[in-house]
Parts: sequence; structure tokens; C-alpha cells
Amino acid sequence: MSELNSMEFDDADSWMLEEGLESLGLESLGLGALGDEHFMRRALQQAELAVQQDEVPVGAIVVHANKIIATAFNQREQLADPTAHAEMIAITQAASHLNSWRLIDCTLFVTLEPCPMCAGAILQSRIPRVVYGALDPKAGAVVSLYQLLNDPRLNHRCEVVGGVLASDCGQILTDFFEHKRKLRKK
Ligand SMILES: [Zn+2]
Repeated sequence: MSELNSMEFDDADSWMLEEGLESLGLESLGLGALGDEHFMRRALQQAELAVQQDEVPVGAIVVHANKIIATAFNQREQLADPTAHAEMIAITQAASHLNSWRLIDCTLFVTLEPCPMCAGAILQSRIPRVVYGALDPKAGAVVSLYQLLNDPRLNHRCEVVGGVLASDCGQILTDFFEHKRKLRKK
């Protein structure tokens, strides 16, 4: 069992659960709140796969034309790769699927507010719409610490919807870290 040293999610009790929808942006691309919940459940399924593999449970999917074209979960431990966040893997998969670095007409669903690295990748891939679940007060770069997806100085902005299934998305992280803490005490 690997130690959770320097894990930015370590103090999992501080999850701020943001219920309901918070839209920060431009008009919707046609996916309503129900569609968002449906796809967020699929992202949560990815997070559950991460738990089974002892990875911090964050899941992401990319939807294009109402079809899922990428599914991923955080694989930082298995790949020993600090860039192997769920969003990064999903974005690479989606670009490969579309054979284009521009993910136009795509929506990224992710169970946790993206970090600065992933927000950067979202901007680079020109994803027009991002839906996330729980807030990440310690590393979030969408609303919590930075607002990278809606910074007028940058050359791309996204429509952002936050707080979709936030309780479920936060709970899976809280449970994961509680379990880890118990193991450490033994
Ligand atoms: Zn990230």
C-alpha cells in the first residue's frame, strides 16, 4: 500500500460540496441538467474503478455528439506519472478518437474540479464545455483557487457547470481517504 505523502487531497474532510448547478458561462450546448447528471454518473463509475485499483478516485469522460468518446480515471500511482490525472488521459483519448487536438463540440465531465494542469490542458484542447462534481478547495483551478477557464487574458474560455452530483463525487473521495487513514493507524 503506497503512502499518501504529499497528497493534495489528504485532508478529505474539507470537501466543499456544492449542490445544484452553478453556471459560469456562455450558453449551454444543448445538454440539459439531466443529461449532465447522466454523464456524471458515468464519470463516477470511472472513479469507482480507480478505488478498486487503489488510485485516488477521480473519473472523467468526454462526450461528443451525445456519445462518450473517452473514459478515464486517475492513474498516477500505476503509471508513476504525475500528469496521469483523469482529465489528461481522457483528453488524450478524445483527441486520438477525433484525430484532432481540437476537441470542438465536446463536453468534459469530471468528478472533481480540475487542477491547474488539467485546466491548462482543457484550454489547449479548446474544449467548449466542462462539467465537474465536487469542488477542490486545495487545488481547484476553475473556481476555488484560480478561474483559469474563464480568464479574459487567455485565448479560450469554457462554459462551466459545477456541482453536478457533488455529494456523490465528494463522498467517494472522503471514503477513500478515511479508509487510507484507518489502514495507516493499524
Ligand atoms: Zn488535474
